[in-house]
Amino acid sequence: MTAQRADDAPVETDAVVIGAGPVGLFQVFELGLLEMRAHVVDSLPGPGGQCTELYADKPIYDIPGTPACTARELIDRLLLQIAPFNAQFHFGQQVDVLRREDDGRFRVETSRGLRLITKTVFIASGVGSFQPRHLKIEGLAAFHDTQVFYNVAEAASLAARRVLVIGDGDAALECAMSFAAAGPLHATEVTLMHRRDEFKAAPATVARFRAMRATQQLHFIAGQAIGFEQLAGRLTSLTVSTPDGPDRTLPLDALVVMTGLSPKLGPVADWGLALERKQLVVDTEKFETSTPGIFAVGDVNTYPGKKKLILCGFHEAALAAYGAAAHVFPGRAQPLEYTTTSPRLQHALGRA
Ligand code: FAD
Repeated sequence: MTAQRADDAPVETDAVVIGAGPVGLFQVFELGLLEMRAHVVDSLPGPGGQCTELYADKPIYDIPGTPACTARELIDRLLLQIAPFNAQFHFGQQVDVLRREDDGRFRVETSRGLRLITKTVFIASGVGSFQPRHLKIEGLAAFHDTQVFYNVAEAASLAARRVLVIGDGDAALECAMSFAAAGPLHATEVTLMHRRDEFKAAPATVARFRAMRATQQLHFIAGQAIGFEQLAGRLTSLTVSTPDGPDRTLPLDALVVMTGLSPKLGPVADWGLALERKQLVVDTEKFETSTPGIFAVGDVNTYPGKKKLILCGFHEAALAAYGAAAHVFPGRAQPLEYTTTSPRLQHALGRA
C-alpha cells in the first residue's frame, strides 16, 4: 500500500492481524472465507515468523495432508492459499499501540506511523517480535542508521566504499555478496567478519561465498569487534580482536551487523490484556482474550492443554474468525459452509 501521511485519516478495516507467521497467515484465510478484510503487520521484512527466521530449510512432517515440506514451502503455500483475499501487508514495523476507541473499534499504530482503525484484532505474535541483535559496544549506537545498519535494506541507501558485514548466516553472507557483486549496491571493498572461518549459512550459500573470496571479490576476517574509532563525528574503523594474532583496526565507511534476530515479547504486555506466564489468556470457544473483539491465536496464547503446534494454531484461527464475525456483522447468522459445496465460498476463493 502507499505510504500514509501523518495528516491522512487512519485506514479502516474489519480485522488487523498482528504477526505474519504461519498462524497469522492462515487467519487471513479464515477471515476471508467469512468476508472480512484484513491488514497484516509484522516487524520482520517478510512473512513466515519462526518458520522463515529459525528453520526455513528444515522439513516439517506434521501438517495434515502434507507428509513433508520445508518451513519455507509451507509459508509459500499459505501465501498462495490466501492470495484471493488480497490482505494488505505491512512489513518491517512493529505494532506498538493497541487501544479501544470511543465507538468500540480499535486503534492500531505501528513503529513506522501506520494508523489503522479496526473492528477486530488478531494477535498472532508467536514468541514475540523478532528484533536484530545489536552489537554491544558502548557509543556505537550514535552511528545507527548513518553508518551502522542492522539490515541490508537500510544499508542500501548508502553509497559506501568500504563495507564490513558481521555474521555467519545466510543473510550476512548474501549481504556481503550483494555488496561485492556489480550492481546498485556495489562497494569498493567488502569484508565479512565472523568469530571463526565456519558458517551456519546453507552449504550452497557458503560455496558461492567461498568462490567470491577465492577470486578476491570480497574478504574474510576471523575476529570479534571490541571497539571503534571516530573522527569529526564519523565512524572510521572497528577495532577487532583476532583468534591468533594482535588486535586489528579495520577502516570502514559502513558496518552492517547481521548476527541474528531474537524475539522480544514487546508491547503485547502493555495492552491491558490478561496474561499468564507472558502468554495471552483466551477461551477455547473463540480464542478471544480478556477484551472482547481482540483474539489471540498461535504460540502467543494459553489455555488448558495448549500445544504450540502449527496445526493447533490453524484450528484456533478458524474458530477465532467465527468469533470475530459476530463483531463485524452483528446479528448476521453465520452457518457453517463447506468450501467443497458452497458457491459463496468458491466465489470468495475465485474458484466459481
Ligand atoms: P510465529 O511463527 O512466532 O510468528 C509471529 C510473528 O509475529 C513474527 O513474525 C513476529 O515478528 C511477529 N510479531 C510479534 N510481535 C509483533 C508486533 N508487536 N508487531 C509486529 N509483528 C509482531 N511446529 C509444528 O507444528 N511442527 C514442526 O515440525 C515444528 N518445528 C519447529 C522447529 C523449530 C526449530 C522451531 C523453533 C519451531 C518449530 N515449530 C513446529 C513451532 C512452530 O514454528 C510455531 O508453533 C509457529 O511458528 C507459531 O506460529 P505463529 O504464527 O503463532 O507465530
